[in-house]
Amino acid sequence: MSTTSMRTHMCGELRFSEVDKTVSVCGWVASRREHGSQLSFVDVRDHTGVIQCVVDNEVDVRSEYVVRITGVVRARLEGTTNINLPTGEVELGECVVEVLRTAEPPPFPIDSRADKVDENTRLQHRYLDIRRERMQRNLRVRAKVNSAIRGAMEAQEFVEVETPMLVPSTPEGAREFLVPSRKDPGSFYALPQSPQLFKQLLMVAGVDRYYQIARCLRDEDLRADRQYEFMQLDAEMSFASQDDVLEAISKAVEAAAFAVTGETPPPIERMTWRDAMETYGVDKPDLRFGMTLVDLTDVFSATEFKAFSGAASIKGINASGKAEEMGRNKLDGLTAKAKQMGAKGLVWLKVAADGTLDSPVAKFLSADEQAELVQRFAAVAGDLILIVADEWDITCEVLGTLRNDLGRPPVWQGPYRYVWVTEFPLFVGVDKETGKPKPGHHPFCRPHPEDLDKFETDPMSVRALAYDLVLNGWELGSGSIRIHESDLQRRVFNALGISDEEADKKFGFFLRPFEYGAPPHGGFAFGIDRLVAIIAGEENIREVIAFPKTQSGTDLMTGAPTPPNAKQLAELGIRVLPPKA
Ligand code: ASP
Repeated sequence: MSTTSMRTHMCGELRFSEVDKTVSVCGWVASRREHGSQLSFVDVRDHTGVIQCVVDNEVDVRSEYVVRITGVVRARLEGTTNINLPTGEVELGECVVEVLRTAEPPPFPIDSRADKVDENTRLQHRYLDIRRERMQRNLRVRAKVNSAIRGAMEAQEFVEVETPMLVPSTPEGAREFLVPSRKDPGSFYALPQSPQLFKQLLMVAGVDRYYQIARCLRDEDLRADRQYEFMQLDAEMSFASQDDVLEAISKAVEAAAFAVTGETPPPIERMTWRDAMETYGVDKPDLRFGMTLVDLTDVFSATEFKAFSGAASIKGINASGKAEEMGRNKLDGLTAKAKQMGAKGLVWLKVAADGTLDSPVAKFLSADEQAELVQRFAAVAGDLILIVADEWDITCEVLGTLRNDLGRPPVWQGPYRYVWVTEFPLFVGVDKETGKPKPGHHPFCRPHPEDLDKFETDPMSVRALAYDLVLNGWELGSGSIRIHESDLQRRVFNALGISDEEADKKFGFFLRPFEYGAPPHGGFAFGIDRLVAIIAGEENIREVIAFPKTQSGTDLMTGAPTPPNAKQLAELGIRVLPPKA
C-alpha cells in the first residue's frame, strides 16, 4: 500500500519471504557501522522500522541522510541475525545508494536514547522527535482512536457537524482566549472552550445526534493532563436520557480501546459522585487500588480526644505496609500537606508488631476506640493509619489526595478501570467575587428532578443530571442532560448571580432559540488526548500531541507566542501596556 514510484517496500516490512527479490526502500540513515575495510552496515529507517543494508564503504552516508536504496533481499549469515528486530533475519545486499538529501548531525539521537534528553530540546526539534519510533507509534495510536470513534459514532447515526472557532465569550468556567476584532476595534471573539452552546442549538435545529472531534481552547495552567488546546469527542443527542448518552459514549470509548489494544474493556461501572467522594475522597476515583476511605465518625462519637470530638466527619485510610517507610519527616510532610489543603491536622497511627497502635495521640484514644480502629481497617503490623477529622468535604479531599499520593500507580498502568461518576452537584463552592454558588460543571446542566424543590432553599445540596467519565483516576470527560426550558435556565442563572437582564445580554443568542421549540437533550465530551495517552502508555498528554506547548505555554519550535508588530496593533486598535514590574 505504501509503494510509490520511488520505493517498492517499507523498511520494516522486509522478511525472509522476500529473499532474492530486488527492492527499493527510502528513508533516513539510522546508523552506519564499518564492517572491515570494504563494507559498511547502514541501517535505514522509515516509520515502519529499520532494515540493514550492506553498503560499499566508499559511499558517503551519515546519520539522518535521506536515502533511497535499491538492493537484493538476502538472508543474514548464521549468527548475525537479530531476533530483536522484525527485519532481523534479512538484509539488503548489492546495494545502490542514492543520497536524496544530506543532513546535519541531529541534536539528539533519533531513537529511544532521546527519551532521556531534556524535553525542551525534543520540543524545540519536534520534527526530529516525531521521527522516532515512540512518537510515530503514539501519533498512529491517536489516529486509530480518532478513526474508531468516528466509526462508532457514525454507526449510531451521529452526524459530524463543525462549529466555529471564533465565538462569543461563554460562561463555561475556564478562562478564555480572546481574539481582537479588526473590523470592530475594542471588541473580541473568544476561542471556544468547547462547542457547548452550538451543539445545544443544533438540537434545537433538529440535527438529533451531533458529534465532532472538536478542538477546545482554555487558558488554564498547564499540567500533565492539560494543554491550552485539546481535542474532544463532543456529542449531543435529542430525546435522550442519561442512560442513552452513557451508552452511546461507552460504545465510542470501547471502540477506541479495542482498535488499539484488541480488547474490549468490561462494561463501564457507575458510581454516584457522593459515593466516589465518600469512598475515594475525589470525584475522579482511581479504582485500580484499595486504601479506600473508611468512615469513623461513629467510632469517635463520644471521644475524649479533643481533635476528634464534635468533628462533622472523621475518616481514615490504611496505607497498608507503609509504617516502616514513612519516617517522621515524611509524616510531617503529609501533615503539612493536609493543613495546606485546609484541614486542622492529620493523625497518624502505626500498627506495631504486637498489634498496638504507635502514635503521639494513642494515649488520648480509649482502648475500645483503638480496638475498633484496628478492626475497621483490618489493620496488621506494619500498617499506617491516617485520620482526618473535619468538615465532610475537607476530610474527603485531604484523604483522597493522600490516598493518591501514597498508592496511585502511573496512570497508564493496567488494568484500565473506567467508571462513570454520576449525580454531580449542580453547584460547588462560592464565587469569591459574587458570593454566589459556582456551577459544578457549567450552567446548562439539568438539576436532578428530585431536588428541584431544594433549589432556592438549599442550593448546595441540589444534584445535577451531570456525569463524568473517569479512567485510572483521570477525568476523561463530562456531560449532562441539559436544561431545555428558558424559565428553568433563568432560575439557574439567577442562582449563579446572573440576572435576567444580564442573561439576555450575554446569552440571548442562546436563550431565545429555546423559545422556538427546544427538544429535551443531553450530551457529553471526552478528551481524546487523555484517552490516547493512557492507551499509549504515556504519563503526559504532550507525548501524544504532535506539536504541544510546554508547561509554561510556549511552543519552543515556532517561538509562539510572539509580540505583534506596531502595524498589527494599530489595525486592531490595541495598545500594549509595559509588562508589570
Ligand atoms: N462542554 C462540556 C465540556 O467540554 C461537555 C458537555 O457538557 O458536553 O466539558
